[in-house]
Amino acid sequence: MTTITYTCDKCNKQVDNPQELFELALVLTRYGNNTTNIKAQEWCRECLLSHGIVAWRDDAIPKPPAPPTLEDMLVQFIDQRIDEKNYQS
Ligand SMILES: [Zn+2]
Repeated sequence: MTTITYTCDKCNKQVDNPQELFELALVLTRYGNNTTNIKAQEWCRECLLSHGIVAWRDDAIPKPPAPPTLEDMLVQFIDQRIDEKNYQS
């Protein structure tokens, strides 16, 4: 089994879900058409909030979906089995 982890560029926290990281980029604009894009970093929710980069409201950053519970996985498995049985008959 291969496991992919993602790392916050600020605090090095490792997460399994990429939705727990947020791309942070800085764009510098001069008068006229010149713009400079600074390389983006990916920061975790806690780093964004602790540095005041995102609004002070805790709900400003969407929370990652909760992992499925054992009950959720069992219900999904049973539903799939029922669908397969109905499809075969
Ligand atoms: Zn972080």
